[in-house]
Amino acid sequence: MPAAFYDDEGNHLKECTKCKTTQPVTEYYRHKVGVTKDGLQPGCRTCTLSKYREQNARRAKKRKQRTHKLTKHQVGWIKDQQGKLSIRETAKAFSKKFFAIKINSSTVQRIFAGKIHIDPGEADTVSIYDLLEGASDFTGSIEDYLAANDPSKVKF
Ligand SMILES: [Zn+2]
Repeated sequence: MPAAFYDDEGNHLKECTKCKTTQPVTEYYRHKVGVTKDGLQPGCRTCTLSKYREQNARRAKKRKQRTHKLTKHQVGWIKDQQGKLSIRETAKAFSKKFFAIKINSSTVQRIFAGKIHIDPGEADTVSIYDLLEGASDFTGSIEDYLAANDPSKVKF
């Protein structure tokens, strides 16, 4: 990437890697020390700002998808697909049916295997190992996850 330079008139300039315009270094934000040679962001202020704005929007969207909890109806629907659809197909069909909610194949696999989202009548106890394994898939907070599991049914 082009570092800042001085032109013939002694202007301190730098070319933006994104919009390719050459602008005074004052139009660039500083970078963390040691990342770029000139200590400036590779893109101009305008480009850097729009990059972060896009990144934030993307992350906010992801965060929103992640915090979705599965309802009883949704879990029931997933269980109904067992034997009809593959795990991958179920995950895909789920996103289609329930719009923006994404679940990954391993969640489907664990629901199919009865390891997570077990109905109280379905299994009397849940081993602590399955509980811990399920926690990595649980999309809510740890508190929500623990609240969703009856501690009296946990087998150590
Ligand atoms: Zn730019």
